[in-house]
Amino acid sequence: MNLLAVYNPATEALIAELPADDAMSVSGKAVQARVAQAGWAKVSLAERKACIVRFREGIVAELEALATTMTNETGKPITMSRNELNGLLGRIDFFLAEVDASTATQTVFSDGGMTEQIEHPPLGVVANISAWNYPWFVGGNVFIPALLTGNAVLYKPSEYAAMTGVAIARLLHAAGVPADVFVLLTGGSAVGTALLAQKIDGLFFTGSYATGAKIAAALSTRLVKLQLELGGKDPTYVADDANPQTAAESLADGAMYNTGQSCCSVERIYVHAKIYDAFVAAFVAAVKTFKVGHPMAEDTYIGAITRAPQLDVLDVQVADAKAKGAALLLGGNRLVGPGNWYAPTVFSNVNHSMELMKEESFGPIIGIQKVSGDAEAVKLMNDTRYGLTAGVFTPDEARAKALLAQVNAGSVYWNCCDRVSPRLPWSGYGDSGVGLTLSTYGIQTFTRPKAWHLRQP
Ligand code: NAD
Repeated sequence: MNLLAVYNPATEALIAELPADDAMSVSGKAVQARVAQAGWAKVSLAERKACIVRFREGIVAELEALATTMTNETGKPITMSRNELNGLLGRIDFFLAEVDASTATQTVFSDGGMTEQIEHPPLGVVANISAWNYPWFVGGNVFIPALLTGNAVLYKPSEYAAMTGVAIARLLHAAGVPADVFVLLTGGSAVGTALLAQKIDGLFFTGSYATGAKIAAALSTRLVKLQLELGGKDPTYVADDANPQTAAESLADGAMYNTGQSCCSVERIYVHAKIYDAFVAAFVAAVKTFKVGHPMAEDTYIGAITRAPQLDVLDVQVADAKAKGAALLLGGNRLVGPGNWYAPTVFSNVNHSMELMKEESFGPIIGIQKVSGDAEAVKLMNDTRYGLTAGVFTPDEARAKALLAQVNAGSVYWNCCDRVSPRLPWSGYGDSGVGLTLSTYGIQTFTRPKAWHLRQP
């Protein structure tokens, strides 16, 4: 039998060896899911909702153990693992509250014996290939609405969050979702590739641009519904009328939370020349308060880097920034192991010739660039192939809205950052992806709206 080894990135200790899938098991499971989906679609929405309510209760009952599992396999600080699980409860509540209205058959026209209706049948069997950085959030954004709307889900968690994937499957099955309706596929890229070869009705992916592009290419002749939630290089502009202290504290958290490993981490900061020095000083002071430590410690803010290869990416960006004249104000180096550790790193005097300001860092590292005014800030914010989120700090609402209207990003923030709401659609421009999750659109995306033209005889 294939085994997937799971290591703790904070200690390098082997913490589990899980039974893993291969091409043959993936194909067998996909066939079973196809058969099971027809039955699941016939289960009433009330009963499907009851399963998700019981799943929610299971999470609440085991929250501490689930948080510990996630921390052990990803290096996420334990307080942030708890935050993610508690945040997931709110997302589940949103889906439960909205699914009836979002999927009810709508009569959109009725006159002279002619009626027009929109029905929301499920897509069928959907595949969900997921990331490790927020495994409950990014998985739950897909499998919860997909199950509620009557789909079977072939769920492949990241190999870096595989134990969390096992826990998700166990809790869903205990809650009454049949084992062939929510199907766990364990393994790395080879299992993901095998999944793409199955007969599926939708592919919902969260991960890097590089993998997303490979998946899009693999499915290019298949005409399968495709959603890709990819990376970002998320900018924020701090205008001259902003409070540098408040903005710095908020943005330091936005850049370093989850050890900088969030798709919507603040990755670039532009500050008006008038308040640049005050902002930079306050930012460095804020980052200095972040404690690097063992992810299980209650006071740890910066945990381990989940994937060891990401340390090389950070080293390259640091060396490139230094070589091109950036000022290193904090960090800039790996920390002594065992495990994958990087010092919180802050650069000023950066520009767009540097990788640090162009390519996703996905770590506790940030560049702060001085700008002369709003026009330059907008130009630089849009100088990217990505477009996930962007923000502006200013007390002036009209100014913020005028600026953010010009920025190419799926989510925009006024005086806040690194924030996701279940009530709002989550999507990206450019290489940040196609399609969306969350909001009521993120429920309907798992349906195939069917048009009914009904003429009374
Ligand atoms: P990744 O692309 O390395 O892996 C994602 C998933 O794809 C994993 O399950 C992996 O096993 C699988 N995979 C790898 N190669 C594959 C292949 N050839 N075919 C099929 N599946 C394959 O990404 P990651 O390191 O897990 O996640 C980090 C990335 O995810 C970052 O770029 C981050 O910005 C992005 N992300 C985006 C969002 C969003 O909502 N936009 C949310 C979280 C993370």
